[in-house]
Amino acid sequence: MILRMSTLFLRTLREDPVDAEVPSHKLLVRAGYVRRAAPGIYSWLPLGYTVLRNVEAIVREEMNAIGAQEVHFPALLPREPYEATNRWEEYGDNLFRLKDRKGGDYLLGPTHEEMFTLLVKDLYSSYKDLPLALYQIQTKYRDEARPRAGILRGREFVMKDSYTFDVSDEAFMTSYLAHRAAYIKIFDRLGLDYVIVKATSGAMGGSASEEFLATAENGEDTYVRSPGGYAANVEAVTTPVPPPLPYDDEPAAHAEDTPDTPTIETLVAHLNERFPRADRPWHASDTLKNVLVILHHPDGTREPLAVGVPGDREVDEKRLQAQVEPAELEPFTEADFAAHPALVRGYIGPGVLGEKNASGIRYLVDPRVVEGTRWVTGANTPGQHVIDLVAGRDFTADGTIEAAEVRAGDPAPDGSGPLETARGIEMGHIFQLGRKYSEALGLQVLDENGKLVTVTMGSYGVGVSRAVAAIVENSHDDAGIVWPREVAPADVHIVATGKDDAVFEAASSLADELDAAGVRVLFDDRRGVSPGVKFKDSELIGVPTIVVVGRGLADGVVEVKDRATGEREEVAVGAAVDRLR
Ligand code: ATP
Ligand code: MG
Ligand code: MG
Ligand code: MG
Repeated sequence: MILRMSTLFLRTLREDPVDAEVPSHKLLVRAGYVRRAAPGIYSWLPLGYTVLRNVEAIVREEMNAIGAQEVHFPALLPREPYEATNRWEEYGDNLFRLKDRKGGDYLLGPTHEEMFTLLVKDLYSSYKDLPLALYQIQTKYRDEARPRAGILRGREFVMKDSYTFDVSDEAFMTSYLAHRAAYIKIFDRLGLDYVIVKATSGAMGGSASEEFLATAENGEDTYVRSPGGYAANVEAVTTPVPPPLPYDDEPAAHAEDTPDTPTIETLVAHLNERFPRADRPWHASDTLKNVLVILHHPDGTREPLAVGVPGDREVDEKRLQAQVEPAELEPFTEADFAAHPALVRGYIGPGVLGEKNASGIRYLVDPRVVEGTRWVTGANTPGQHVIDLVAGRDFTADGTIEAAEVRAGDPAPDGSGPLETARGIEMGHIFQLGRKYSEALGLQVLDENGKLVTVTMGSYGVGVSRAVAAIVENSHDDAGIVWPREVAPADVHIVATGKDDAVFEAASSLADELDAAGVRVLFDDRRGVSPGVKFKDSELIGVPTIVVVGRGLADGVVEVKDRATGEREEVAVGAAVDRLR
């Protein structure tokens, strides 16, 4: 294959797109891989589409290698199956819902558990049919609260999703481990620097759950790891209760010690009086425990919008008031974190008062969170403090509540040393669905004894389009993208420089010879474009090997440059094909 830049549908840009925050977004747009069509929705240009298909090919090969079979579902789906599993509601605003001309309800699939379950139910009825693994590479739709970072978090994106069907939990484990091994191969081949972390399965249910996170500063996931190899998404970790926060000079003084402590009812009344909320009055609930929330404007007025101390125990109102003094609302500093072991960082998302998050930690959350609002939360026990967060920026984009329950230095739950925190991009997620979907949709088979059993399922996703961006996050420099060879849009980028016809002819025959040898070539055959522009473009585009055909030709040599290391080498024209194949 030879892509000729003189005719290639490509315009590289010198300027970063204005809406781009992270390197992959900037570079993929500037280098002409993708173009924005609408927020979180992108068109793939020839180079980008080539890379996307290369990623797909790797995923497809590794799925086929474990015996998973490829199918393809529609993206436009009927409401009923999602109604049966409650996800029509549960998905909330993230679901794209639409109506057909007769008024029937449809959705654009955010993930396809229901459809796979029903298809297998349609066709299979015996334990002899199992195990079964099916997958598809499909466009998914999620109306993400804040599509950010280009194709890293799209509202339309490409996912490989697979589903396994087994007759028992033991059999399921084999399917799970086969997928896990396949994922390791996939992410190795994609050239990603990644970690495998324990994860919660969130809304999906089930117990075994692991995420493959590409390590990246810009990642939206926070995970913890220990020197001994423990690694978990912060959502999945529970830690020992830290000591009470020394709010005042007598850290040991607790509310219970104070004779005139108001009850939670007094506090709720206080909140409703001082911070009335017509839409959702403050109320006490047994899911509100030991968490203080102070919400205030980011504009410097520091006027609290809302203050709450939930709890099933009594609270010292004086202490509460001390907390809302303006001075107390200063964001914690690094020194605070160092001085107070109970201070931890984390997230709190827009949610509902008294909502319980996936990991069982309870928060008092104002449902009216708006972009730009800062939250300060504090707690005596179990020591949750979340500060200086901006809705939309820090909250998970799909609006779920996450909390950092651990802090650097905590011991790993398995005793493998102190934890440190780091950021990552979720590239893949494998988990046990158990019988949640098979039960809801009635997927049963007859076992050896002729008894009906409900099928055990697993669900496994890879962010195919996200991988394109994550690879760039992992692998770029100031000049541009540095593709690992297997996903690169070409193996070799030939740059012909100058005006000399002989140079262009020599470059062109080198391109032909490489092509004949099975090497994928991007050939900069543009006339009247300066060498400087061509070199810049070659670095921006990021093909792993750059071959400059120019002045050296008079001496019978071309220059071979390694995009990643910058190493250059002169190679005799006649030896070039052998050197590059
Ligand atoms: P995230 O935590 O990033 O929102 P998720 O946990 O909601 O992802 P899953 O439902 O586990 O995602 O989907 C499987 C995979 O699909 C993810 O591991 C990720 O790689 C990819 N993915 C999910 N949402 C998006 C998106 N909005 N844009 C691109 N890829 C996505
Ligand atoms: Mg999500
Ligand atoms: Mg996730
Ligand atoms: Mg996930």
